[in-house]
Formats: sequence, structure tokens, C-alpha cells
Amino acid sequence: MSTAQADLAGHPLCQDLVQAGATLAGLGLSPGSSGNISVRIGDTVLMSPTGSDLASLDAGNLALLSLDGDVLGGPKASKEFPLHQAMYARYPDMTAVVHLHSPNAAALSCTQPWAPHSALPPITPYLVMRVGQVPLIPYAAPGNSSQGAYINSLDFDFSAVLLQNHGPLTSGASVQQAVDAIIEIEEAAKLVLLLQERPARLLDDAEIAELTRTYGTTWKTSGP
Ligand SMILES: [Zn+2]
Repeated sequence: MSTAQADLAGHPLCQDLVQAGATLAGLGLSPGSSGNISVRIGDTVLMSPTGSDLASLDAGNLALLSLDGDVLGGPKASKEFPLHQAMYARYPDMTAVVHLHSPNAAALSCTQPWAPHSALPPITPYLVMRVGQVPLIPYAAPGNSSQGAYINSLDFDFSAVLLQNHGPLTSGASVQQAVDAIIEIEEAAKLVLLLQERPARLLDDAEIAELTRTYGTTWKTSGP
């Protein structure tokens, strides 16, 4: 463990990261060794190591990188670091990023997006309140930097994305917020899949606007 890592191992955000990994794995949302979590502390990022089991992360054995992606210590970071990096670069207030291959959201990521600004429709108030719109990021092989560039290029606000044929990625001002968001996406995706081709009532523009105004999320309100 490097000195910098030892200093950060006791940081509350580091403890939150380890706890979040156990929570998400316990919910069955991290099949195999999939998924990764990171936190931003100052100008550094601590991230779950490549191939690690989220159920048993070690606060003293996380990958430590600069926001530019320079390796500062610890084991090798997940190859999906560039996606985390893109969210931190775009949103300086975000301190945590969570990515999973959770089954319902991953299944939905293989279907046509509901609209250009959101893969998921406004199907429940909780999705609109806790997450907001979730744009679909076109497919690229894991680790390819093009998806980070795409995230940076979008000209509307969002706090989470769905990676095509892959899975969800959320950010939060706290680890808990990012965790709550990715669970909400999984639940909303499950409802969309349950409904399949049945015509579903979606929240209307006025209902969406009331929620985004109250909860500070973003959703374009003119339908798909
Ligand atoms: Zn992944």
C-alpha cells in the first residue's frame, strides 16, 4: 500500500465505496466480478481494481489514479476507468461513479432507446426524481475511449447513462446517491421489460416538470 493510499483508506468516501460494493453484490446486481465503483477525493480517484469482486473490496487495496488517468498507486484499475473519468470531468460536483452489468438494465441496453435523450421512458416518478433522463451511449468495446468522448459531447444534462449492449453507469454527489440511482435504473428497466409491447401510461410533461423542479434532476419534456 502506498502512503497516499494508506492516507485515503480511512477516508469516509473510501469506506462508503467498500460498503456500496457489498450492498450491490448482496442485491445480486454484480454478476461474477463485473461492475466497478469509484470515488473522487480532491484531484484523485480511488477505484475498485480490475477483476475484483464488489462483495469484498478492501479499502487499503484500491486503485489510485489522478483525474487525468495517471496511475498513482495500488492495483490496476478497471479498464472502464475512462467512463468514470468522463463523468468526473463533466460534473465537478460528482464524487462517486457506479457501473454495473445488472441484468435488467443490461437487457434493456440491447434494445432501441426510448428517445435520443433517454433510453428509459419516464415510467415511474422515482426514476425521474432520483435519476432523471438516461441517455444511451453507442456501443464500443470495454475500455475504448470513444464512449467517454461521447459522454462529453452530449449537449444536455444527465447524471447517468446506459452503455449499449453493456449496462448502466451512474454518478452522485455521494456514493449513496449513485447507488440509489443505479438500483432505480435496474427497477425501471425491469418494469419496461415486464410491460414488453403493452402500451404503458408514461408520466406526462407536467408531471415530469413537477418532479424535476422539486428534485433538481433533468428530463426533456416534449416526449420522445
Ligand atoms: Zn462494464
